[in-house]
Amino acid sequence: MRILLLGGTTEASLMAQALYAAGHDAVFSYAGRTNTPAPQPLPTRIGGFGGPDGLARYLVDHQITHVIDATHPFAATMSQNAGAACRATDTALITLQRQPWVAGPQDRWTHVQDTEAAVAALPDAPARVFLAIGKQTLDAFAARPQHHYLLRLVDAPDAPLPLPDCSVIIERGPFTQAGDTDVLQRHRITHIVAKNAGGVGAQAKLDAARALQLPVILIDRPTVANQRIVTQIDAVLQWLDHSARLGV
Ligand code: NAP
Repeated sequence: MRILLLGGTTEASLMAQALYAAGHDAVFSYAGRTNTPAPQPLPTRIGGFGGPDGLARYLVDHQITHVIDATHPFAATMSQNAGAACRATDTALITLQRQPWVAGPQDRWTHVQDTEAAVAALPDAPARVFLAIGKQTLDAFAARPQHHYLLRLVDAPDAPLPLPDCSVIIERGPFTQAGDTDVLQRHRITHIVAKNAGGVGAQAKLDAARALQLPVILIDRPTVANQRIVTQIDAVLQWLDHSARLGV
């Protein structure tokens, strides 16, 4: 049994520790989006595979028998590619994914389907928006230049940002409710835009928004067909044990 763990999330790092502790033969894969990816206890490769065909070649060349897709719920291209490559090579695949967040009675959330819908859901009057969506889909918000945007990024931007009026915090999670309350108040934020990523570390901004009664525009997850999803690391370990017992 040889495992490929697709990473880039807190859960993937925890999965890597569990695989290492259990003595599994596994490789960790990063897309290479951040300058200083967290070190892993497993042998690590960095960079894209070259689409589903490239990944299929990698699986064959490296004699991978099991793929664990622990990428972010919004990394839908990678998850689709993993599905296609595993089907093509008859490789076992499981997805480790956090539960989405669910609104409580005190939350002021508007659910939207995608980034464009989030842009459309912003008010017309100038607002101060915490855009907690990473850096990849910022361009769409240039259509609403009247707002001040606060961005929180892992690395300092290496190109000019597409938003005329913005400020940037460079910080890596996990975050705390106290810290995020301070950020929202200090920057006089009136609206939050976030992806429904789920998980604990990124939830702090929603807890802070609830306490301050701020409106949140929450982008729904993209759907990926035919995923076998588990939410717990132990479930992945059981799946691997079961496969080992069956000799597959
Ligand atoms: P994506 O749009 O689904 O993937 C784009 C391409 O990046 C893939 O086709 C693949 O390139 C490469 N890639 C993605 N994940 C990879 C991995 N773990 N190992 C090797 N190549 C990978 O992904 P994304 O949204 O850009 O996310 C990139 C990474 O950041 C992922 O590891 C994800 O877990 C992490 N992340 C994403 C978000 C988010 O909001 N999207 C948030 C936090 C962390 P090839 O086609 O060349 O193989």
